[in-house]
Amino acid sequence: MDRPDLGADIEKMTAYCTYCPKMCRFSCPAAAAEGRETVTPWGMMRLLELARDGSVELDEEVADIFHHCTGCRRCQTWCKHGNDVPRALWKARRWAAEQGFMPPQLASLLDHFDAHDRPFDQPPPEVDDTPFDESAGLAYWPDCSTAQNHPHLVGAVGRLLEKVTGSKVRLIRSEDTGATPCCGFPLSAAGLEESETIRAERWPAFAGVERVVTDCAALAAWNRPDSSWPMEPRAGDPEVEHIFGLLAKELPQLTATDPIDGADSLLHHSCYSARQLDGVDQVHTIIAQIYETPPAAMAYDGDESPCCGGRHHYRALEPDSAKEAARRVLNSMDRRDDASSMVTTSSNCRCALSDADDQKQVTSLLELVCQAYGCLE
Ligand code: SF4
Ligand code: SF4
Repeated sequence: MDRPDLGADIEKMTAYCTYCPKMCRFSCPAAAAEGRETVTPWGMMRLLELARDGSVELDEEVADIFHHCTGCRRCQTWCKHGNDVPRALWKARRWAAEQGFMPPQLASLLDHFDAHDRPFDQPPPEVDDTPFDESAGLAYWPDCSTAQNHPHLVGAVGRLLEKVTGSKVRLIRSEDTGATPCCGFPLSAAGLEESETIRAERWPAFAGVERVVTDCAALAAWNRPDSSWPMEPRAGDPEVEHIFGLLAKELPQLTATDPIDGADSLLHHSCYSARQLDGVDQVHTIIAQIYETPPAAMAYDGDESPCCGGRHHYRALEPDSAKEAARRVLNSMDRRDDASSMVTTSSNCRCALSDADDQKQVTSLLELVCQAYGCLE
């Protein structure tokens, strides 16, 4: 097998890891949940180095290990070299898939996308599209986790955006099904397709769309040069940004009609919104607008926030370990007498946390913004 050229930056990163005393070991949700050295950031990067230089033969077992990273970038917070482990491991997955090796649990993703334009084995639920205007220049592209698991929020966000911007926005839909498609990030996370191919072949046309806001942190990360997986801008495409950017800018001009009491609540920053989008300050601006009493910070807060293991490919690959990672986040509520609920900044995390323990009350910041501005029905 030819030695792959994954890029000089990846080569340097794996070398740094090889000679590192695992400074980031404690921060990795997969390593903590699975309790094995092979899936620490160090273990995965060392294995990539050995597979890349031919010391270890690439096979299904080796390829499987490359998938035990959620992309949370938490290890980078404690890495003296600033290593971007998800960037390296996404490339490793693609290389392994091209050689015919990938975890069998992830293969059905392609079927789900071909059938439903999304990573789920069911068609999308109906959403209220009355708050949208199909000719507007500003468009909302819902996180597929929101559209699938909290479909009432799609219409609520439409009403919120109308309130915030002064006019109705467009809802991004697939030309084939009329439903909102997934951006395809789970396919790239599984190593099944290149991000540029997904964009070219699976994204809807943007005719007449000047700007897109989304609550999908992965889609927003694709469109940022400083994320782990930046895509080159494509001529003619609208700017894509996370909805928290727009809300942080616009909400300070609008008084919340139903402010939230967060006295019994803990705040969890999703790893993608905190570390892939550098969005911690935006979240705090939004919180200042919608809460009477803000939620308390977790022991590891903001850029240091723990990952709940909630990304789609990791939950499909290691469902028990993903739940264990989520329970470790929820356990921070048990350490405080005054915390009976958790607010998280992503729909994905909300689902993963709720699935892990249905006795714990978890909601999303976006739902609370809609509530505070009277947009839920
Ligand atoms: S990511 Fe950084 S801290 Fe973690 S093992 Fe590699 S070099 Fe060490
Ligand atoms: S990005 Fe997150 S899941 Fe991936 S190796 Fe680093 S800490 Fe672990």
